[in-house]
Amino acid sequence: MEEFDTIVGSVTPREKSPTVDIYQNTVGLACPACDEPFDDLIVCKELTRLNLSERMDICPTTHEGSTVIFTHKEE
Ligand SMILES: [Zn+2]
Repeated sequence: MEEFDTIVGSVTPREKSPTVDIYQNTVGLACPACDEPFDDLIVCKELTRLNLSERMDICPTTHEGSTVIFTHKEE
């Protein structure tokens, strides 16, 4: 995903951990997978069980061995 660095440079870091980084899309960037604006960008550096409590659509992809998830909350 060649846009990855651009996207990470534009979104707001919300949570950082050794396994998962979460960024919030405060600038209305479009998801590279579906072209709809996403809510959060989740970077899973290790395989982990994500607890996504809210109902949302996700667009999963990968970048350099990490699982990258774009979330779309249901309105
Ligand atoms: Zn998407």
